[in-house]
Amino acid sequence: MAVTKLQNLVILGTGGTIAGQAADPSDNIGYTAAQVGIGALLAAVPALDQDGPFITEQVAQIDSKDMSFAVWVQLAERVNHFLAQPDVQGVVITHGTDTLEETAYFLQAVCQPVKPVVLACAMRPATALAPDGPQNLRDAVSVARHPGAQGVVAICAGTIHSALDVQKVHTYRLDAFSSGDAGPVGYVEEGQLRLLRNWPQAQKSPLTIEKVAGLGALAEWPQVEIVMSHAGASGAVVQALVAHGVQGLVVAATGNGTLHSALEAALWAAQDAGVKVVRASRCTEGRVLSVPGQRIADSQGLNPVKARVALMLDLLAENDERP
Ligand code: ASP
Repeated sequence: MAVTKLQNLVILGTGGTIAGQAADPSDNIGYTAAQVGIGALLAAVPALDQDGPFITEQVAQIDSKDMSFAVWVQLAERVNHFLAQPDVQGVVITHGTDTLEETAYFLQAVCQPVKPVVLACAMRPATALAPDGPQNLRDAVSVARHPGAQGVVAICAGTIHSALDVQKVHTYRLDAFSSGDAGPVGYVEEGQLRLLRNWPQAQKSPLTIEKVAGLGALAEWPQVEIVMSHAGASGAVVQALVAHGVQGLVVAATGNGTLHSALEAALWAAQDAGVKVVRASRCTEGRVLSVPGQRIADSQGLNPVKARVALMLDLLAENDERP
């Protein structure tokens, strides 16, 4: 009987706890992230032998708390490079949990992949008594091999999350992510997918990766900062950032986008001075519902960190259009 050869699956390493090492196997928090190479991570899951062929590449080796736009651009370029090859079925990216939702959102926005791009992570280092990375990696491969899978998703503790909705919601437990009101895309159970809703679809993007990469020196990237509304807030941080030359501000507002009056006054002044301001909610669920007459635009359902990426891409697109 003829054996059908599977297409290539690309596994890109970027670091994180999934590649972390601790001196003591019972230590789940005192570890150093980003120590184990992508080849060794794959080799630690013998069950994957039947799911190849794989192409592996170490794109970065960092703790994702230190994620940068430079790494994002490099990562997105490698994703696009591999996805353009007809014999590549999809891409799996090993990544830290801390900024996973931002990377997922960035990649979905600039790559708009019609093949699967699956971010795999872990809440325990590779040296732990019970590491969760190997199962998450195996599940990521099951997702990427699934016929019809598309767009950027994350897998953690057997749950598939869309790049648009995923958010880290827990500091310690293995099931650390939520898709909020939207709910997960589905689950992976013993290598089988149980899908609940659509894969992330391509949407209008302010910038493609070709344009992002072509924008040159990182010093030219717009500075977009996040400020938070809270009891006793003042306008001091906003005023300092405006004086520093910030181009965009995302405010993590209370509830349905409400702002402390002192902070709001400073944000209006910033907006009047030409700074782009967007209002997101610091609540982990729900979205800011716009109220007529509000002077500050809402984030269209994005949480503050994703709204920051979106605003940065908008500003880049605007800068790019300028003669
Ligand atoms: N600090 C780690 C990282 O984001 C945390 C993790 O991966 O769970 O790289």
